[in-house]
Amino acid sequence: MNDDKLDPELYRIAREKGTEPAFSGKYLNEHSKGMYRCAVCGAELFSSDTKFDSGTGWPSFSEPANTKNIILKKDNSEGMERTEVVCKNCGAHLGHVFDDGPKEKGGKRYCINSTCLQLEKTNETT
Ligand SMILES: [Zn+2]
Repeated sequence: MNDDKLDPELYRIAREKGTEPAFSGKYLNEHSKGMYRCAVCGAELFSSDTKFDSGTGWPSFSEPANTKNIILKKDNSEGMERTEVVCKNCGAHLGHVFDDGPKEKGGKRYCINSTCLQLEKTNETT
């Protein structure tokens, strides 16, 4: 997808490393089963199976669906030492990963902007 076709909010976050306001994202309270894909390029990023309610105001995942689809980068902006999560395929900024996730799931919390995600729901009738 060409950058000039991106939704302005998606452009602001994915290309300019913005952050959506806490508790504003469309997927914050989403509990449907499926695959969260990159909103820019469609790469598989996170499975709904790893999504959890972190109480932080952003969709949170304990691990990526495929580590080959993301890049982790050191980010020292805004006076904080954080690790940025980037879509490997298109370079979109997705969010950050922190070490305060659920211990039983490995202790990671991928804190991702809803705007950067597109949920592809699983067609399950169960
Ligand atoms: Zn992408």
